[in-house]
Amino acid sequence: MTTHDITLIPGDGIGPEITDATRRVLEATGVCFNWDIQEAGEKMIDRYGTPLPDHVMESITRNKVALKGPITTPVGSGFRSVNVTLRQTLDLYANLRPAKTYLGVRTRFENVDIIIVRENTEDLYSGIEFQYGTQELGELADCIQKLNGQVIPEGSAISIKSISRKASQRVARFAFEYARANGRKKVTAVHKANIMKFSDGLFLASAVEVAKEYPDITFEDRIVDNMAMQLVQKPEAYDVLVLPNLYGDIISDLCAGLVGGLGLAPGANIGSEMAVFEPVHGSVPKYAGKNKANPMAMMFSGVMMLRHLGEREAADQLDRAIAAVIADGRLVTYDLKGNPDDPTAVGTSATADAVIDKLNSI
Ligand code: NAD
Repeated sequence: MTTHDITLIPGDGIGPEITDATRRVLEATGVCFNWDIQEAGEKMIDRYGTPLPDHVMESITRNKVALKGPITTPVGSGFRSVNVTLRQTLDLYANLRPAKTYLGVRTRFENVDIIIVRENTEDLYSGIEFQYGTQELGELADCIQKLNGQVIPEGSAISIKSISRKASQRVARFAFEYARANGRKKVTAVHKANIMKFSDGLFLASAVEVAKEYPDITFEDRIVDNMAMQLVQKPEAYDVLVLPNLYGDIISDLCAGLVGGLGLAPGANIGSEMAVFEPVHGSVPKYAGKNKANPMAMMFSGVMMLRHLGEREAADQLDRAIAAVIADGRLVTYDLKGNPDDPTAVGTSATADAVIDKLNSI
């Protein structure tokens, strides 16, 4: 039996608790793992001067697969988001975020099964920003005025949105390949090319070009604001969505809301050589150490990891076991109860016990 070497990053806030719960259910599938546990996040700053020490990156580069808990990004501090740095440095260009309704979850919709493919390396996340009041900003404003005649108002800050043909084409190709490999019928490119004619226009033109290579998959496009409205009116009409980085982040939270909240939303960051699996949600600092958070988003990320590792049977079993716990509705965390103050809600570790019981009885 193959033993898989996996970098395991517990992360900040609720990260260690949901990571422990996820590790237990993954091991209960019978698949063998050699966990290379690596700490990253807030607690590393004092010791290494960075939340993402080099040895963590080296571990992922060596093992090629990582399972990661959420990491806090202190707002307005000097540190860039660990999550964004990881995705960009390791060139994990496609962020795959499925949103699917599970029986037993109280939601407004029943038949949602959307795959979000978010471009993960550029757009407004490039980190090219100019701070209010700095000399650099003044120079940039002068340059912009010289180049296209527009005056940047005094006291502004500037963030640059850059979108490339290469990154847009490769994420579009990923979406079409995913659709083909998984029996999906349609890819919708989401953009705001009516306003951002050059950046979003290039994203759309790249998707249109790639779509020609996949005549078996229907292709359409939607303007992002219209897309937001349509998703809350008729989400069942959508299949695979491909989006630039920022819209992808926002629309994937919207889709998580359609199917029961962030506690159920998994994710994968995939590149040509490496993949990092993590829940969509953040570190929920208010619940850190309280054994209260729902570990299922990370468990479903573990299911995605099993599929990536070729462990399809174990992936299907774990998926069914989590779904059965949700459908049963008794041993679930507060967010899956109709009333968040429901005293019958269980904690993070009891959710893992319930999933393991189902795994053993399926
Ligand atoms: P968050 O996802 O941490 O929390 C938002 C709300 O969603 C919570 O208040 C909670 O009510 C609910 N929620 C989220 N996950 C849940 C779970 N597993 N179980 C039950 N309820 C859950 O978002 P935030 O408050 O905007 O961010 C907190 C920190 O996390 C920030 O520092 C942010 O930068 C970081 N973050 C990290 C990642 C990542 O590591 N990939 C992603 C998003 C945010």
